[in-house]
Amino acid sequence: MNPSLESKEEIIQKIVSAGKSKEEAEEKISEKMEKFSGLLSEQGAAFMVAKEMGIGLSEGSSKGKKISDLEEGMNGISLIVRAKQIFQPKSFEKDGKTGKLCSLIIDDDSGEMRLTIWNDDVDKLNDLKIERGSTIMLKGCYTKSFNDKLQLNLGRGGQLLLDEKQKMELAELESKSLKLNELVVGLGDVDVVARIAAIFEAREFSSEKGSGKVGNFMLADEKGRCRAAVWNEMVDVLRELNVGDLIKIEGAYAKEGLQGVELNLGWKARILKNPKREMPALAELCAEEVEGKKINQIVGNEMVKIIGKISEIRAGKLHYLVCDKCGKSVSSLGENFICDKCGEVKTPKKKALVKVEVEDDTASIGVVGFGGDGEKLLGLDNNEFRELLERKNPEDIVEELLPKLKEKEITIIGRVKKNMYGDDEVVVSRIG
Ligand SMILES: [Zn+2]
Repeated sequence: MNPSLESKEEIIQKIVSAGKSKEEAEEKISEKMEKFSGLLSEQGAAFMVAKEMGIGLSEGSSKGKKISDLEEGMNGISLIVRAKQIFQPKSFEKDGKTGKLCSLIIDDDSGEMRLTIWNDDVDKLNDLKIERGSTIMLKGCYTKSFNDKLQLNLGRGGQLLLDEKQKMELAELESKSLKLNELVVGLGDVDVVARIAAIFEAREFSSEKGSGKVGNFMLADEKGRCRAAVWNEMVDVLRELNVGDLIKIEGAYAKEGLQGVELNLGWKARILKNPKREMPALAELCAEEVEGKKINQIVGNEMVKIIGKISEIRAGKLHYLVCDKCGKSVSSLGENFICDKCGEVKTPKKKALVKVEVEDDTASIGVVGFGGDGEKLLGLDNNEFRELLERKNPEDIVEELLPKLKEKEITIIGRVKKNMYGDDEVVVSRIG
């Protein structure tokens, strides 16, 4: 229910007092609802009918403005709108300082307009997880014309809020939210939610049309996989993402690529990191399809499946300490342990951190397992691991376990990452 709108009954009352019969009002409202094939609520339809009849409703007289009310030179404007399209934020330089801006197309039942958000407010789009279709409340906006077109700007000290409870009574967006297996060459204005399955080295190109940068990556969701491409400034956005990250891409288009359908992020596209969605971990999404690779074929920043034998267990404590409340790693301050989130931790818990060297017939690579994955690398369950750690020091544990491990073949699915020395390492997602 939209709190800023009057109820259907209240609106009908106003239509009646403007000289129409109740029946006529009801009929017009039904017509309106039919026209929007069920997308409009009764209340929304009543509101539109009243507006078309020129009947003033509280909306118009309250502090909130409609897009059609806006004129050049207005300040301190508040309004509730829908984010119809959000473009990728951009940085700019002015007077030797760098700033950020993000443009949006916003709409309400009176029209649409371009909105620009500046500097720190740009981060709110990501922090609040504002997606296209989200209802947002704006306070402290001003208008300004650009190329003869009136535009809205969020002023310094203005507010941008996500209004999750409120659904605007507007026709549905034309964009399509699709699963990766539904992408077809030629589709435009596509939204997808997926995890990044691989990121390839970005490259420069030059053609008759000009030069630029292109970055390719691979997406995975529950239904499939798809190659994707970003161009120029967007390559820098891709650089800040990691394999495994959940993202929502808005406003992309599907075209024929070298390996089938490819999702292209053109000038209209935007990437939102960590949208509020559930999606299985990458290892689950790709378990069936992860490419088995020889160790010497690993190129970095990808999910891989390797089959080999453990040749070495790297020296170390085999564990680290985590907070018993939230599970985050703790730092030690003298005798005490501190969790960044929970404060002092009296009884930190031991969590496995196991690094081994795995070799196949081509090469060897470091493999890291945390928690249960670390225990499994050593061929132990949680009880066995704890019990060993209580009883023996790490060197003796390694000495006891290694001979057995060396004989056994192990299959590891994991994410390739550079470690602090710049070497590729596989972080275990699943064993076996
Ligand atoms: Zn904690």
